[in-house]
Amino acid sequence: MSNDEFDAWRFATRAVRAGQTRTLEGEQSEPIFPTSSYVFESAAQAAARFSGQEPGNIYSRFTNPTVRTFEQRLAALEEGERCVATASGMSAILATCMGLLSSGDHVVASKSLFGSTTLLFNNILSRFGLEFDFVAPSDVGAWAAAIRGNTRMLFLETPSNPLTELADVTALADLAQRHDALLVVDNCFCTPALQRPLTQGADIVIHSATKFLDGQGRCVGGAVVGDQATVGEGVFGFLRTAGPTMSPFNAWVFLKGLETLELRMRAHSANALALAEWLEARNEVGRVFYPGLASHPQHSLAARQQSAGGGIVAFELPGGQAAAWQLIDGTRLLSITANLGDTKTTITHPATTTHGRLTPEQRAEAGIDDGLVRIAVGLEDIEDIKQDLAQALAAVR
Ligand SMILES: *Cc1c(COP(=O)(O)O)cnc(C)c1O
Repeated sequence: MSNDEFDAWRFATRAVRAGQTRTLEGEQSEPIFPTSSYVFESAAQAAARFSGQEPGNIYSRFTNPTVRTFEQRLAALEEGERCVATASGMSAILATCMGLLSSGDHVVASKSLFGSTTLLFNNILSRFGLEFDFVAPSDVGAWAAAIRGNTRMLFLETPSNPLTELADVTALADLAQRHDALLVVDNCFCTPALQRPLTQGADIVIHSATKFLDGQGRCVGGAVVGDQATVGEGVFGFLRTAGPTMSPFNAWVFLKGLETLELRMRAHSANALALAEWLEARNEVGRVFYPGLASHPQHSLAARQQSAGGGIVAFELPGGQAAAWQLIDGTRLLSITANLGDTKTTITHPATTTHGRLTPEQRAEAGIDDGLVRIAVGLEDIEDIKQDLAQALAAVR
């Protein structure tokens, strides 16, 4: 870890204090620095800053105090040496691949990834000589079988979106290490409040800060966390030059989000578990996907790997897309939006939104049924959420 002081603090203290250094004004809340560039005391100092001989601010594409505070705080929460903030979750994934891979390298990735991540790999990065194979996240043997001599990276989300399938981080970290590949974990669904993949052997953690880190659906942003060599040099090197970096205003919003992250994640998880149990008991509903349910096929791995189930519940309606759309259109309280990780509960039809640009074959591979509905459970009273879904379910025929 980068800072001995943060090291000594427990999680909740890091969440509200790590990274903050007060300016001469003595402000209690973190300041926002909306400046594109910084003034040097002399030509010699400018030269020393640019060459890296002297640390300090240069230009906000790669050095901004508000963004740095966010980076240090998230690094402390993930127990990583270094964090770099990005303009979005997708640019965090792009920067990780562009910063650490070269043409001819091979990546083994989970079949169950965020839709845009699969498209980035298959339709864009594959045009630049990177090779991808996709395997079932829970099948450690399939990951091992897909590894080749040129495999440099294993990439996964756990739990996956939207089916909450888990990958065994410890087992895959061991596999990656034996083949000299990097294990990259998109920790969007659990956040460091529930799961810290770097402590389980992963090399890099990716975030879409847009989701739970913000927590109130306000800003788009992302982050990459890991050690100095991979993140502080490889990923940062790409970002500094190519530029998809985080704005200081967004960094400030995310800082405020981090302060309540653990409280919110516990509350999201409690509401989601209650909703998943309620859905499982309804006969209009088919399979329910939630790691906290005893019926989840990887319930024991979930209990070992994450400290609660998280806020995302998915379930199937036997009536396919028509039934899913009727249910969604019948809700009054829930927001029909593809975002997740908000205090406000959101409801989504993955097959026609988040995973709508995949081919039907790719969707089938990822297990996205036409009757699948995803709910990102918010912080409203659980009885109001159930009541809204009960009246919407009653209208589905
Ligand atoms: C939303 C999301 C992303 C992409 O993040 P953006 O901030 O929307 O670019 C990546 N991974 C997962 C799991 C997500 O849910």
